[in-house]
Amino acid sequence: MARVYLEHVWKKFGTVVAVKDLTLEVKDGEFFVLLGPSGCGKTTTLRMIAGLEDVTEGTIYIGDRVVNDVHPKDRDIAMVFQNYALYPHMSVFDNISFGLKLRGLPKEEIKARVDEVAGWLGLKELLNRRPRELSGGQRQRVALARALVRRPQVFLMDEPLSNLDAKLRTQARGELLRLHKDFPTTTIYVTHDQVEAMTLGDRVAVMMEGTLQQVDSPQMLYLYPANQFVAGFVGTPPMNFLTMDIVTEEGQMYLKHNGLKVPVTADMAVGLKDYPKNKVLMGIRPQDVHLADEARMIENSGWVLHCISDVAERLGTETYVHFTLDDFELVGRVSAVRTVSMGMEYDIYMDMTGAHLFDLDTGVRVC
Ligand code: ATP
Repeated sequence: MARVYLEHVWKKFGTVVAVKDLTLEVKDGEFFVLLGPSGCGKTTTLRMIAGLEDVTEGTIYIGDRVVNDVHPKDRDIAMVFQNYALYPHMSVFDNISFGLKLRGLPKEEIKARVDEVAGWLGLKELLNRRPRELSGGQRQRVALARALVRRPQVFLMDEPLSNLDAKLRTQARGELLRLHKDFPTTTIYVTHDQVEAMTLGDRVAVMMEGTLQQVDSPQMLYLYPANQFVAGFVGTPPMNFLTMDIVTEEGQMYLKHNGLKVPVTADMAVGLKDYPKNKVLMGIRPQDVHLADEARMIENSGWVLHCISDVAERLGTETYVHFTLDDFELVGRVSAVRTVSMGMEYDIYMDMTGAHLFDLDTGVRVC
């Protein structure tokens, strides 16, 4: 096992800056996720760690060794790709053992290792088949087996579950978690799927346009997003955002939007005490917006709005309803047993204890 450390790493493709001044440390044995939208630079970062792309500037360490100029095969890493990259003409056994044969391991040891890994992943009955004779989920497991069998210091995984259907993906996530618990090898996992990131990662690094936004545990990312981008990217459905005026009347601070006015919570009062601006961006998750008659209202820390229901997304266990009021739209959570008619007026309650405030210009968290 090994830690992986990136120090001020840049990657430029001509005029495209894919990764900008990235510094991050992946701890020994950690399951670390790189998360971000398409084109944010996460695959490029992984490929630089693997040695499949040159580093334009900066240093990459695996263990205590600088690997910038080390050939991929000498980095002691194993990579699992999105398309699995299996050899179609080889059996499952040969696919899994290919790397070990190249390294010249004795036949008996190769067989013992393949048998062991095939046992973990339920592939024992399939070792003589060709990849085309396997289901998508089985192919994915062969790709994983091929990486595991090499017992590398570091696993690098690039969206390895994205070709699976929703049910298989959930199952494969469980398998990855179990394997990592049993064999906690340093793993760097790239995904654009925030649910995957939150369920798998010990820690998650969120990237946008080549720049690192925040590195934290899934829980901290959700509860204390560092900026508006992370707040909007992590959590389903996405956070609601509203521009608010900050006003003080008779010693009490309020947030105002059009005719609506709500006193700030005690935490917000502390956070806004020395804030120099008179407007702020408020973020509130749909999970903190309810029908007023369903809500557990907290005195002085909530806000009742008279809204019109627009669209309902039924998820089975709960329903998310889009409400409109004047110039803004707000998504709220309604219990699944409740029937919400579209185009009707409802009182909805926002629990301000769950609200976040961000700087309107920079998007950085205020409190
Ligand atoms: P996705 O989830 O779509 O794979 P990503 O976050 O992994 O996206 P990268 O593939 O790392 O993003 O790409 C980052 C940026 O670098 C993008 O703007 C992309 O167009 C650019 N890029 C990547 N590879 C090359 C290349 N070989 N030549 C030129 N530009 C590239």
